[in-house]
Amino acid sequence: MKTRKNVTIGIFLMLGLSIMVLSLNGCTKETTAVETSADLQYKDAILNHTIADTSSSGCWSCTDSLPVESLSTSETEALLTMREEEFLAHDVYITLSQLYTKPIFRNIARSEQRHTDAIKALIIKYALVDPAANHVTGSFANQDLQALYNDLVSLGSGSLTNALIVGATIEDLDIKDLKDHLLAVDNQDITCVFNNLMRGSRNHLRSFYANIQFIGGTYTPQYITQEEFDAIVNSKHETGNGN
Ligand code: MN
Ligand code: MN
Repeated sequence: MKTRKNVTIGIFLMLGLSIMVLSLNGCTKETTAVETSADLQYKDAILNHTIADTSSSGCWSCTDSLPVESLSTSETEALLTMREEEFLAHDVYITLSQLYTKPIFRNIARSEQRHTDAIKALIIKYALVDPAANHVTGSFANQDLQALYNDLVSLGSGSLTNALIVGATIEDLDIKDLKDHLLAVDNQDITCVFNNLMRGSRNHLRSFYANIQFIGGTYTPQYITQEEFDAIVNSKHETGNGN
């Protein structure tokens, strides 16, 4: 009799605890679910990439206001490669924007056009021969970039998820390449432009990754470290001047 009573009390206690846990969970969920209209607007702007991006306007002031300095071989190579690498991003996104209606592709493509224009301004400033003077969409002088373009368009054409992963891959690669170039660059104007382009890439990566998450997909960084990737996607859109 005593034992049965204890068991009954035990069951009531367990029930009570479960209800408490459930209601605590309920509270927690409600708290995180309350989003201000500013939060929702921010999410929407990230998903569609309609948020103001100052990475290209920052570039013009770098190129115009900073002095011409002697150009090393690695700086020349970095400019010529990045001129076409920014075009690669632009061309892939334009092509994908014709397959998928999500505005992110055409909105980021516009930003990439400004990025390649910013490199062109440095190519003109240093009187280099522009490898993309007569650029045709999807056609590259740099054969590594040509192969990459072909692979990425082919992958992205498979599905929307793949197209978003292609976007994250391009931004992942751009961040890595710009970071590597910056190790060999010392001219102030090039450093300033590359830092602005890298900030643009981090913002693009945030938007592509938000879309991948939104449709239940995943992305594992292929060029930057997981730690660098997490630091980027877990922080807010950047609006500074990239220096
Ligand atoms: Mn770019
Ligand atoms: Mn980009």
